[in-house]
Amino acid sequence: MNEPEKALDFRWIGDVPSPSYVIDLGLLAENLAVLDGVQKAAGVKILLALKCFAAFSTFPLLRGVLSGVCASGLFEARLGREEFGGEVHAGAPAFREEEFGELLSYCHTVTFNSFAQWERYRGRAAGKVHCGIRVNPEHSEVKTAIYDPCGPFSRLGVTRKNFRPDLLEGISGLHFHTLCELDSDSLERTLSAFEEKFGHLLPRMEWVNMGGGHHITRPGYDIERLVRVLRGFSARHPHLALYLEPGEAVALNAGFLVASVLDIVENGMAIAILDTSAAAHMPDVLEMPYRPAVIGAGTPGEHLHTYRLAGMTCLAGDVMGDYSFKRPLAVGDRIVFTDMAIYSMVKNNTFNGIGLPSIVLRRADGSLSEIRRFSYEDFRNRLS
Ligand SMILES: *Cc1c(COP(=O)(O)O)cnc(C)c1O
Repeated sequence: MNEPEKALDFRWIGDVPSPSYVIDLGLLAENLAVLDGVQKAAGVKILLALKCFAAFSTFPLLRGVLSGVCASGLFEARLGREEFGGEVHAGAPAFREEEFGELLSYCHTVTFNSFAQWERYRGRAAGKVHCGIRVNPEHSEVKTAIYDPCGPFSRLGVTRKNFRPDLLEGISGLHFHTLCELDSDSLERTLSAFEEKFGHLLPRMEWVNMGGGHHITRPGYDIERLVRVLRGFSARHPHLALYLEPGEAVALNAGFLVASVLDIVENGMAIAILDTSAAAHMPDVLEMPYRPAVIGAGTPGEHLHTYRLAGMTCLAGDVMGDYSFKRPLAVGDRIVFTDMAIYSMVKNNTFNGIGLPSIVLRRADGSLSEIRRFSYEDFRNRLS
């Protein structure tokens, strides 16, 4: 996130509806080329984490490179089976009894978060799909507590102390997911902790899934180390199939949110109110929280005209951040937020009864198509 803008052509921003998410297939393809290089050099399979990015119109492009998807719930698993194909892996803190049969019908692999869940479902799952256990290596690399699956009292994954080697009949793999937006040195340290705590079980396993949070396509990410670490692990455990399941790395910096200025008010500073919302259209801005990058804008004071960019909902804190521009903003001006393909369309909402942004594909040849326009019905159908 917050990557400095690349030397890209942004003349198209006047040609899309406002607000809209624009998914850039050329940029997506650049990410895929990097991930394909990793798959080939390290001998791993890479799955798309659907919870991050699930724009199925792009799946024909993605499925040429990625081996499948990982799903966090029933509907993601179904989307994966029907729209993506390949291997569908599912994992969740717990599965619902009444959904499990259907979930199973979509899956290649199911990972259980506890031995109690495994005991509850093993009769239905064993022999039908590959079954795994999520473990918690109790090694924290993530600094923000709400994104750290290894923090105190975490419910995510079985700790060494609670591991039940007596219940492994039917389990063919181990899964860990402990990273978020991190580099390969974090994976290296995590793998040491994983092998120290769970390495003795690996001879009985057929696969290991190292989760997501690998920021592989971020400029400066140490891919060489990633490949070295993965190949080293493979050399120690040559019988294991290895998986990574990143979300962010697949669609990082491959999308934009185009919005427009509706009004400019003044209260100690100039505040531009946009036809979008941090709370409704880019919730991670408030949840992480972070300040998204805006094309052509600098930090406050860097250029002559500083504005707070804010949303059109009632929430006082519906603010994207403070930015400066070379020219004063005017009503109708377009504002382009970068890196908005990930954790955006999958998380947005219609708070305040505002509409959802359109979804636009920008093809490698520069052509644009609005592939989805939302309406009142999308708001109403979630209510009763
Ligand atoms: C969130 C998550 C991912 C994807 O994480 P990114 O940070 O988007 O790469 C993969 N696996 C699991 C189990 C997750 O919870």
